[in-house]
Amino acid sequence: MAVKVCKFGGTSMADGNVMNCVKKIIDNDKDRKYIVVSAPGKRYSGDIKITDVLYECHKEVAEKGSCGAAFALIRNRFNSIVRELNIDFDINSVLDETEMRINAEKDEDFTASRGEYLSARVMAEVLGAKFIDAEDVIFFDKNGAYDAEKSDKAINEAVRGAEKAVFPGFYGRGANGKVKTFSRGGSDISGAIVARAVNATLYENWTDVSGFLACDPRIVDSPKRIKALSYKELRELSYMGANVLHSESIFPVRKANIPIHIKNTFRPEDDGTLIQPSVYYTPSGNTVTGIAGKKGFTVIFIEKSLMNYQIGFIRKVLSVLEDAGVPVEHIPSGIDTMSVVIESAALKEGKLERILQGIKEAVAPDTLRVTEDIALIATVGHGMSSSVGTSARLFKAMAEAKINVKMIDQGSSELNIIVGVKNEDCDNCIRAIYREFFGK
Ligand code: ASP
Repeated sequence: MAVKVCKFGGTSMADGNVMNCVKKIIDNDKDRKYIVVSAPGKRYSGDIKITDVLYECHKEVAEKGSCGAAFALIRNRFNSIVRELNIDFDINSVLDETEMRINAEKDEDFTASRGEYLSARVMAEVLGAKFIDAEDVIFFDKNGAYDAEKSDKAINEAVRGAEKAVFPGFYGRGANGKVKTFSRGGSDISGAIVARAVNATLYENWTDVSGFLACDPRIVDSPKRIKALSYKELRELSYMGANVLHSESIFPVRKANIPIHIKNTFRPEDDGTLIQPSVYYTPSGNTVTGIAGKKGFTVIFIEKSLMNYQIGFIRKVLSVLEDAGVPVEHIPSGIDTMSVVIESAALKEGKLERILQGIKEAVAPDTLRVTEDIALIATVGHGMSSSVGTSARLFKAMAEAKINVKMIDQGSSELNIIVGVKNEDCDNCIRAIYREFFGK
């Protein structure tokens, strides 16, 4: 039997009318059994997210001993949600108890988690479903890492016998027994955790966009939508800055080979984007799946004659970076040359100078040169390995747009080609590559 876990983001919980749309979506498919919800988000631009108000509540408690003005906003918002839903639910007693606990516990994570708690209580009422508190089923170990084994067991016990169940996202219980939140946007992770625990056939992630676009719409006007992509392609594109999903949220479901379907609550009829485990993935037929770019890299270029005969040369260079605690992004190399690509933000406060000195001492290079303000652009797609001439098309498009290529790195999986260009050429380069592979 198919079992779907559906996570609804903040905009899907923003007011009673949208929550009614959520109810319709759930009622439309009997396989949608387990629902994970975020706190109410913005209703219009300029509105404030409930989680942000809760962080304000915590500040108020820390300064004045109890929260008043900020909690009044929470109270109003939930009262109007219940009114719009037209349900018979005594939200004010739940709010009273919540306010008391916020004032008593004086704990930031606890306070921040209440948006999810309250929206799950309301949603469970709307759906006539069982409410399962994340505090009782999602656990962290003493190092603060999510405890999969303990949580899986507790989630399965809690859902036993329930036709439908609603979980609040974003939090669980720490090893000290107190509520602990994930990082911001963490309800995506909670959804993935529940999906993995119940061995779901599909993890539906309902948001306010109809899935991933082939590139950033601020750079290319109305780019094409990506209908399907693999976890690996998603990883490449998100690493380069394309973000729809919380990046950690992938891991629990990826491990269990559960596909994720990104859907739009406001346009449920749209296809959305299906993210598939590589084992099931069938390429769409497009050579390129998506293009993403990120600015702000520094390239250290090292040249030394007969580098290839010097055993341990690359290790010595990388040890300098390791000792400086600097992560390396890419290492393109030639016969007597190698480059190290590093995020410029990691090289502040004299670190770059110290690293250059360290490299000089470690390997005495013939040439040591630094190029700053580099952007990396990744062109990603499983289809690239099977089509001849992809790189030729890519570089021709860049040449025609008069963009100087500073660096080339093709991943050994043939899943991506990464080019380095000057920061100021980044957007133009993305446009040129997009035009070449997706048309005008
Ligand atoms: N409400 C939390 C946040 O605003 C978590 C989430 O929405 O996923 O970050």
